[in-house]
Order: sequence, then structure tokens, then C-alpha cells
Amino acid sequence: MLTVPAYAATSATEPLTPTTVERRDVGPHDILIEIKYVGICHSDIHNVRSEWGPASYPMVPGHEIAGVVAEVGREVTGYAPGDRVGVGCMVNSCRACEPCLRGEEQYCLNGNTLTYGSVDADGTLTQGGYSTHVVVNDDFVVRVPGTLALDEAAPLLCAGITTYSPLRRWGAGPGKKVAVVGLGGLGHLAVKIAHALGAEVTVLSQSLKKMDDGLRLGARRYFATSDPATFEQLAGAFDLIVNTVSARVDLDSYLGLLKPGGALINVGAPPEALSLNVVSLVMHGHVCAGSLIGGIRETQEMLDFCGEHGIGAEVEIIPAAKINEAFERMLASDVRYRFVIDTSTLP
Ligand code: NAP
Ligand code: ZN
Ligand code: ZN
Repeated sequence: MLTVPAYAATSATEPLTPTTVERRDVGPHDILIEIKYVGICHSDIHNVRSEWGPASYPMVPGHEIAGVVAEVGREVTGYAPGDRVGVGCMVNSCRACEPCLRGEEQYCLNGNTLTYGSVDADGTLTQGGYSTHVVVNDDFVVRVPGTLALDEAAPLLCAGITTYSPLRRWGAGPGKKVAVVGLGGLGHLAVKIAHALGAEVTVLSQSLKKMDDGLRLGARRYFATSDPATFEQLAGAFDLIVNTVSARVDLDSYLGLLKPGGALINVGAPPEALSLNVVSLVMHGHVCAGSLIGGIRETQEMLDFCGEHGIGAEVEIIPAAKINEAFERMLASDVRYRFVIDTSTLP
């Protein structure tokens, strides 16, 4: 057992504080990873604050992990000490159900093991990447391409795969008009990835204040959703809309921006229920769906794609002492575009 520094939430209402966590001994199929950088995902805030239902504490968040292999178990053949690797939202699954066999471990029917907040095989609670080390089964470790810096790669492990997966599945590519709603952590990677896939990208943000960035990241057009004229001007304009907003939105307004048969895919996961006009959905053959991260195989595919296209996240590296402040800034949409914790600053 290894006792390592971490930052944890002790309740839904208290700030995160420094602590330590125990990492299990490296088993035959385990990899001990020295975490270098970990991204702060908005899901960390939803989880820490029990917004998606009661969470278990203490909770060490963090599922955008990038680091270096420190030790491998005796049966591990794919990785060696020194390799640059990543871990995302999952550290295990049943491996036997239909979704698992299809490579969609995120939809495991028997309950996958999340990187934090899940009960592990040994009965302990998994603890995430706001920490210096983690031990993970080798099947749930992915390789970071040599062309990507580890700090810019870390957010790909959640924000990257969460946007890549629906963009691929719903056909973002040449000749397709794609809108990305919300230019935060997920949104800015959605813009980069959709652009690299060859789609014509439009950003729909609350205001125009990040327009220069949006266009630099690969968007052709940029509109403010606070301006009602946006929804008139863009009516019926898009094949695909990826909604990354962490709060309630008016789904019908966005569905109105789709071409007939177009799809609005929700990856943003606000705790509140949203309603929509089903008759309007029917009349236009629109699709309104959701998408959860992506499987392990697809996560490696996404990393390789990002490596080839030089796509990393735009990051603001922070010391661990600034985690609580970063949460507040994300809630104020004041992030350009992902906070990433330098784990060497953990006390
Ligand atoms: P983030 O960095 O905070 O970005 C969210 C963006 O949404 C903000 O930058 C803002 O963009 C927009 N926004 C926020 N509040 C809004 C409001 N009241 N009205 C309209 N727009 C608003 O968050 P993130 O890390 O990208 O995560 C976004 C959401 O995706 C969260 O709910 C998170 O839990 C979820 N998520 C889902 C998955 C999945 O597998 N489906 C994976 C990861 C995260 P503008 O400033 O441009 O308006
Ligand atoms: Zn996440
Ligand atoms: Zn399964």
C-alpha cells in the first residue's frame, strides 16, 4: 500500500482540502502511474456538490489524468516504466455484458467502476486524480502520443473523448454544418475536433466575448445565444449540434436550429430535468439524444487522432491550492479553457 498526497471534498458544501489517500499494491495487471497533470472537469463540481444525487465522502475528484508509468505488474505487457499514459473516467467494468463486449464500457450493464466515487473490487471507494499517484488495471490505461504535452493531453481523457465520440458517431465531417453550444472545457475541444474532422463549425456562446478564441480554434462563425436574433438567423442551419452546457438550456430553441433530420446531442449534464416539444421533434424528424464519454478503445483512437492533428486542450495550469477558486471561476464561465492541476504542487 502506498500513501500519497491528494485533495479531497469532505462534504457537499465544504471547500476541498489537502489529505492523503491509500493506493493498493500493484497487482499482476496493475499499473502504478505517477500523475503529472489532472484536468478539472465540470463533472467534478457536479459530483463534489452531490448535484447528481448523494455522493460518498471523502471524495478525491479527477478523471482527466496524464502521467508517467512508475511500475507495472508482472502480467502487464503493453506498458513499461517511463511510458506516457492517461486515465479517464473509468478504471474497470464487467467486461462481459453487451456494451462492454462492444467496447462501450461507459454503458456497462453491471455498473462500471468510475475513477472516483465507485466501490472497487476490494470494497474500498475509488479515489481520483487530484493526487500524485494512482494504481489502475492495464486495460483501462491509454497511451498519450509523443506529439502531445502531458498538460494539454490531460483534458482529452474526458473532455476530448466526450466530444470526439458523438462527433464521430453523428457524422461530423466535410460538408456538415456543426454547432457547438458553450465554449468551455468540452466546447473548445469540440470546436477543435469537429474542425479537424472537416466540418464547418459554429460556436453558440452566451456572449461574443470569446469570439476571437473561437475563430482561432477553428470555428467559421460565432454567435451569442443571449441575442434572440441568433435563433432567427440560424433557424434550420445545422446538421448536428453538440450541447456542452452545464446548466439548463431551452432545448426547443436549439432544436429549431437543426435541418430536418438533424441531431442535437447533449453531453452537458445539468442536474435539472429539461423539457421539449415532442410534436416539433416529430414534425422535423429531429433527433435529441445524449452521449456519455466513450469506450477505452475509442479513447485511444481519439488520442491518436489528436496526436496526428496536434490537438491539445488550451490550459491554465494551477497549483493545487487554487482548486476551490478554479471551481468558482468555472461556475462563472471564467475559464480559457481548462484548468489543469500541476500535481507537483500537492502538499
Ligand atoms: P465548463 O468548462 O464549465 O463549460 C461549460 C460552458 O457552458 C461554459 O463555459 C459556458 O459557455 C456554458 N454555460 C455555463 N452556464 C451556462 C448557462 N447558465 N447558460 C448557458 N450556457 C452556460 O464545463 P465542462 O467541463 O465543459 O462540462 C460541461 C458539462 O458537460 C457539465 O455539465 C459536465 O458535467 C458535462 N460532462 C459530460 C460528460 C459526458 O460524458 N456526457 C463528460 C464530461 C462533462 P459560454 O461561456 O461559451 O456560454
Ligand atoms: Zn469529465
Ligand atoms: Zn459490462
